[in-house]
Amino acid sequence: MIEENYRQVAASLKPGVRLVAVSKYKTVEEIKTVYDLGQRVFGENKAQEMRAKHAVLPSDIEWHFIGHLQRNKIKYIIGYVSLIHSIDSLELLQEVNKAAAKENRVVPCLLQFHIAEEETKFGLNLAEAEALLDSPDFGEMRNVRIDGVMGMATFTPDKEQVRREFASLRDIFQKLQTTFFLGKEHFKQISMGMSDDYPIAMEEGSTLVRVGSSIFGARDYSLKLY
Ligand SMILES: *Cc1c(COP(=O)(O)O)cnc(C)c1O
Repeated sequence: MIEENYRQVAASLKPGVRLVAVSKYKTVEEIKTVYDLGQRVFGENKAQEMRAKHAVLPSDIEWHFIGHLQRNKIKYIIGYVSLIHSIDSLELLQEVNKAAAKENRVVPCLLQFHIAEEETKFGLNLAEAEALLDSPDFGEMRNVRIDGVMGMATFTPDKEQVRREFASLRDIFQKLQTTFFLGKEHFKQISMGMSDDYPIAMEEGSTLVRVGSSIFGARDYSLKLY
């Protein structure tokens, strides 16, 4: 089942779009199945779970952190994380920068934007992001690099609303690209699209889709893996 799902999702990607296989609540064996089919980028949303999986899975996996990151848990991921998708405050970015400095790393990060109607989703608005990028504190950070933006659309059957929200994230990306990141080659990622909406996200310019259940099947949230 996972094999067939993975092949279908991989075959549906537009050129230039990378797949983050979201493996939260899935076992090491399930991840290994997808790894053996060639997938190298996996996404997790809990720091301890990611640490435990990183410890036992092959070292050429790129681990992407996609969930809300609590400051006291940065230490569980900072030594090896390839991309943090979920920076939603200057304070969090400062803590990541500090932890990355201790590891002698420059850690790639995305700014997470609130593009959905739902109140519950984390994220910045454009004004908050501009204030962050304008701040002297950000100017002094040497151990983080902002590679782009991330967002989640509203969970709704209204495809046009989803499309509008993804388009709004692409607009934010383009605005930042032509202001704060002019000429910065590394600022190129738009992380948007999940199992239910990644085809629309790709049409609206996504470069990174985060797909879980379409590959691994539904999650069992009662599982206590870690
Ligand atoms: C769980 C999760 C996903 C994947 O969701 P699916 O609907 O299973 O594809 C993508 N992005 C984030 C931030 C997630 O937490």
